[in-house]
Amino acid sequence: MSTAPTAAPVVLITGTSSGIGLAAAVAAAAAGFRVVATLRDTAKSGPLLAAAESAGVAERVRVQQLDVTDPASVAAAVDEVVAEYGRLDAVVNNAGAGALGTVELAGTELFRRALEVNFLGVVDLTRVALPHLRASGGRVVTVSSVGGVVGQPFNEAYCASKFAVEGFLESLAPVAASTGVTVTVVEPGAVASEFVANLQLDVPALLAAAGPYEPALKAYLATTLASFDNAQSSADAAATVVHALTAERPPFRLQTTEWATGFVATKLADTDGSAVQALTSSWVDAS
Ligand code: NAP
Repeated sequence: MSTAPTAAPVVLITGTSSGIGLAAAVAAAAAGFRVVATLRDTAKSGPLLAAAESAGVAERVRVQQLDVTDPASVAAAVDEVVAEYGRLDAVVNNAGAGALGTVELAGTELFRRALEVNFLGVVDLTRVALPHLRASGGRVVTVSSVGGVVGQPFNEAYCASKFAVEGFLESLAPVAASTGVTVTVVEPGAVASEFVANLQLDVPALLAAAGPYEPALKAYLATTLASFDNAQSSADAAATVVHALTAERPPFRLQTTEWATGFVATKLADTDGSAVQALTSSWVDAS
């Protein structure tokens, strides 16, 4: 990343009220970035500001409103960063939400909502940020999921949205790289955050409404909720986000644990994405 010697690089991060986004904001500030920590509801910035304060990095963290489903707020946030700092060195597309259910029971609306937040939000911020990232030789870092590679039961809408994220960014990466912008996806497995709580699951009601899918849903919930007992901490997952921001040449795809790499390897030969990037970069090599 090209940075003027006198000015620390600027990163904008979405979804910093809790979890990986909050931890990434603090860790990026600790790594020397000026962090524009965005939330759809800035009234929820208390935990972020407290964490920044106790890490001694509060002066490098600025809170900004941004709802990834509201294009006007995305554009306004990026404009404000550039007006204030005169540069944007990286964006971290972190905001996202789970979506549990199967198509017959949940209907199309679950898919629409998952795509709005997890996919179109990433498309929109990336689009608006690119001209500024091109000027800085910057980076797009996106928190995807192992569910962006491996489809999982009762995660049809969530995995479809994360597959969409990966298809979008895997395709964009060689094009962005041709103008000096690095694109990386980060793939966590289970992470201890507000992710499960934010699903606001009413398990008895879900099971009661599951009809022929009740035994499968019951088994799935037991397996998955148990996997969160050994979840990676948000700080640990955020360390991979910071690695994607700071490593000299990060690969396209970074998992956050060995387990996550093993899981995606069930399906992928190219777990870090470098084989695909080497192939498709040659299609846009004008030299
Ligand atoms: P989290 O604690 O629930 O954090 C999600 C963040 O996204 C919150 O700050 C939430 O804000 C924000 N958000 C939701 N909708 C938004 C919108 N429309 N505009 C702006 N912000 C919005 O969960 P997390 O685990 O840290 O999730 C972060 C990312 O990691 C997500 O992309 C998720 O898919 C991914 N991930 C999580 C896990 C896991 O096991 N936790 C595993 C793989 C991938 P509010 O507080 O306002 O809702």
